[in-house]
Amino acid sequence: MGTPNDRVPLADRVERLVAGDGPLPLVAAGDPVLRRVSDPFDGQLDSALLARFVQALRVTMRAAPGVGLAAPQVGVGLRIAVIEDPAPVPEEVAVARARVPQPFRVLVNPVCTPVGSGRAAFFEGCLSVPGYQAVVTRHAEVRLTGQDEHGRSVDEVFGGWPARIVQHETDHLDGTLYLDRAEPRSLSSHQAVAERWTQPTPAEAARALGFELP
Ligand code: ZN
Repeated sequence: MGTPNDRVPLADRVERLVAGDGPLPLVAAGDPVLRRVSDPFDGQLDSALLARFVQALRVTMRAAPGVGLAAPQVGVGLRIAVIEDPAPVPEEVAVARARVPQPFRVLVNPVCTPVGSGRAAFFEGCLSVPGYQAVVTRHAEVRLTGQDEHGRSVDEVFGGWPARIVQHETDHLDGTLYLDRAEPRSLSSHQAVAERWTQPTPAEAARALGFELP
């Protein structure tokens, strides 16, 4: 059984989605599109429509605001994501989390493979799981391969916070939410994080909430 939406050709659906100029509605956890493995991008949208879709993702990410957004989060099951992080955080936080600014970029068919065995654990959140954050242990450094929005090959190593962002977004394309990888006892409302867990690292949260860090 499909929903009526499933029977509309993908390009037509995206065309309708990007018809306005404003941010797109975000899909929240519980929608099956966030749990499906997205299809590789293989020209399903022509270059003009792809450019408009990427622009719509960018507008939506900035409005949220967020540092990354994957196509399934606006209901489109294609392996496309955008990232951008101006990193507006205090110096000591930026240093502890290696949160260096990440310019806007488009990931098409991204694949992340770990580089080395380093791990990093920090609070993160997701626009599709509004209101909460949790501590996720991720590879400290990853190699990202795939393409950009012009079809050019990408092969690049990401470290620090940008490595976390590309892993989070690539996970979305595989139907994985950060909660699947999170330390359950770290789950905190945005308010609790703002009031208690703004330290550069989650060490104090780990002690107080009773979870282990790597
Ligand atoms: Zn997310």
